[in-house]
Amino acid sequence: MSKNQKCHYCGGQEFAVRRMRYVYSRKEKHLFVPDMPVDVCLSCGMIFYHGPSLLRVEEQFKAIYERHELATRYTQMPVLELVD
Ligand SMILES: [Zn+2]
Repeated sequence: MSKNQKCHYCGGQEFAVRRMRYVYSRKEKHLFVPDMPVDVCLSCGMIFYHGPSLLRVEEQFKAIYERHELATRYTQMPVLELVD
């Protein structure tokens, strides 16, 4: 997001770039991104993802699951199911 754009929610014009954890999921398959760059609105806290980053995650997801390329690294996560 460029500096002269407004927050779609509150109209704020100041943003900070942060890194966040992000999980891209499709059909029970997941790609974990530990350092996704986002713009955070300094007025309301709303998070805006960067279009090119989202496209890159989607492309990498396809590379891994359709073309069987290797991810940067692999991890295992414990799962907690809260619904009875
Ligand atoms: Zn805002």
